[in-house]
Amino acid sequence: MGIEQIALDVYRIGMGYVSAYLIAQDEVTVIDTGLPKHREIILKAASQARRKREDVKHILLTHHHADHTGSVAELMAATNARAYIHPLDAAIIRGDKPAPGPNRDILAGRILGPLMVRITPKLQPIEALQETNDGDEVPAAGGMKAIHTAGHLSFLWPQNGGILFAGDAVSNVFRGPRPPVGALGGMFTEDMAQAKESFRKLAELEFEVACFGHGGPIKGKAHAAFRREVEKLAK
Ligand SMILES: [Zn+2]
Ligand SMILES: [Zn+2]
Repeated sequence: MGIEQIALDVYRIGMGYVSAYLIAQDEVTVIDTGLPKHREIILKAASQARRKREDVKHILLTHHHADHTGSVAELMAATNARAYIHPLDAAIIRGDKPAPGPNRDILAGRILGPLMVRITPKLQPIEALQETNDGDEVPAAGGMKAIHTAGHLSFLWPQNGGILFAGDAVSNVFRGPRPPVGALGGMFTEDMAQAKESFRKLAELEFEVACFGHGGPIKGKAHAAFRREVEKLAK
């Protein structure tokens, strides 16, 4: 794990079970910030790409979960970067709305849910957020398209043949890209049917590489892997 270059200008920052990503061009763009207290490894990735912390200008957040927004406050304090997030998740990060708990309709949510809530870190609220909606072009890395699906933003970067940053809308932990549904994968999914619909929406996009919050990236023909999975879901 650690820091790995996965495409031209693109780095994966592994933090145990979750990954953040960094694009180093004239400006540096960070996609998700991983767990709390992980600012230093993000800045290390920037310096490995021969960029300074002042070059970090944009932080794109896929959703409110603490394993993705954990280090955003620390990173903003060190860099003056702007953070972009969907309005529904912005309300949670600002502290205006409580985060939804684990899904108690499934067994893992009922059994592990209370424990997960206890070990989930409480984050400091952040006021300054750039609210980002479906179809918006975020002015980062020459333009990144935001795609909103249930509870989530993914980002499509048109460079390098298209790179999809799927956050948790899709994971790649068990044999291929999957929506977050099922016995364990769905623990923090609020709506299973919508999660599958989200996956189908993302599979319609054109991209060569796909990056996930959980699981390794697909470095080529990623789009075909998504299409195969959509066919399996339909059966
Ligand atoms: Zn999540
Ligand atoms: Zn996650």
